[in-house]
Amino acid sequence: MANRPQPRFPEPHTEPFWEGAQKGELRYQRCNDCDDVVFYPRHHCPACGCGDLSWHVSAGEGTVYTFSVVRQNRMPGFIDLGAYSVAYIDLDEGFRMMSSVVGVDDPTTDISIGQRVRVEFEEQDEGDYPIPVFRPI
Ligand SMILES: [Zn+2]
Repeated sequence: MANRPQPRFPEPHTEPFWEGAQKGELRYQRCNDCDDVVFYPRHHCPACGCGDLSWHVSAGEGTVYTFSVVRQNRMPGFIDLGAYSVAYIDLDEGFRMMSSVVGVDDPTTDISIGQRVRVEFEEQDEGDYPIPVFRPI
């Protein structure tokens, strides 16, 4: 299991996102006024300023927009990962999130821009919140 950092609460804007992660749901927001897709979780729509946002559940599939590979990270929670990817994923619902592509033998050669991926929720050694990561489909 991994030991990535956990969210710190109280944090009113992101708590519904993390409650979703506990249920295996990748949640995002949509503006009820202009219908813009909103991610990361916020109190107001960045397009129109409206505070009337609703939560939705993503199907969890998308494509790799771009990525990099971290070969060494001495931060607690990352030391044991070895080389790992940091990737932007474009979800099919129209939002982009930073995450990691996992489940590949070598992240320097086995990940590509445009690659299709699906979310999964990585349980952690410590803490109550699984972390959303992506695996090639
Ligand atoms: Zn809006």
